Amino acid sequence: MKAHVVELGIPVKVIRVGGDTYPHRFVLKEMGFFWDSWDEVWEGEETEDRWHILNGLGGLTLEVVTRHYQHQLHYVDIDDLPDETASITAVMGVIRELKDVIMFTRVDQQLGCFQRFLLADETGVIPCIAWNIVESASIKEGELYVLEKVQLRVDKRGYKELHCHENTRFHNVGGEDIDRSLVDEQFMSWLHQTVSIAKLSINVTSRISGMITQFDNVRDFGVCPSCGDKVETETYCWRCGEVSPRKRLVCSGVITDDSNAFKFTFFGNQVKSLLRLTAREYNEATRLTVIERLEMPALINKINDLIGKWLIFTGRLKISENTGIKTFYGDGVYDP
Ligand SMILES: [Zn+2]
Repeated sequence: MKAHVVELGIPVKVIRVGGDTYPHRFVLKEMGFFWDSWDEVWEGEETEDRWHILNGLGGLTLEVVTRHYQHQLHYVDIDDLPDETASITAVMGVIRELKDVIMFTRVDQQLGCFQRFLLADETGVIPCIAWNIVESASIKEGELYVLEKVQLRVDKRGYKELHCHENTRFHNVGGEDIDRSLVDEQFMSWLHQTVSIAKLSINVTSRISGMITQFDNVRDFGVCPSCGDKVETETYCWRCGEVSPRKRLVCSGVITDDSNAFKFTFFGNQVKSLLRLTAREYNEATRLTVIERLEMPALINKINDLIGKWLIFTGRLKISENTGIKTFYGDGVYDP
């Protein structure tokens, strides 16, 4: 496995602790990590109290400054990632196909979120998922990042996915040298590795080359503006109480490639890219009712353009626990 080295300048808080007991002791802190062990004092969440604890330790003095900490990181090529589940120190690549943050309710009733994207380098492409990380929401499509501390998951079929957790750090390294045309080539070749609909695996990000043969309609549902959950009634969120929900579009129909056919569903911004709607058309469609949408000329034209056109779709096939019906949840569409 060939490892490369990237030099990172990370802004860290340097906490200088003076006093008799610990003269000139340094603690480096960056995003909640301590590189010097002061576990007795620092264990747990940082709170206002921590500062008092420290200040109260035998008249210690405290100085906090932000510095650039030069930090060398070894990262591997995507093509060189192991073939089994492993912890990976770092990978570097361009963010592609960055999806919206999806909120969901965990089994413990807490609010969770995840965000999907692809990471592409000069050697390959890998699907990634970031769990419950606020930081992932600030990453940008098309920019180069080093992902530090990620978990590689490989399932029985050899499907690989990178998981980012609270410990993962996203370093934007725009200045690093990378051949963008090779990255684009890798992305295009990944995109064209399609599977036939008959062979789609459940719950795996896949590409299919096919067409939409039936388009039902564009409906909408209410989403709570604060937690992102579907609202229970017109104005009531079970978590937040009375709210004025945002409308989110959803469309469905049938997708086929001759090997088989499945129901498909596209949500929100993916409806916009599926139908190639302009921002104005999308906003207009969002304001209308289901019936009014049936008479919106731009929408009707775009739906007619879509039906029967051979395209590459990305998404996941899911199976309903209640009905056993399989649905392809699309999250991207490309004209090959
Ligand atoms: Zn809510």
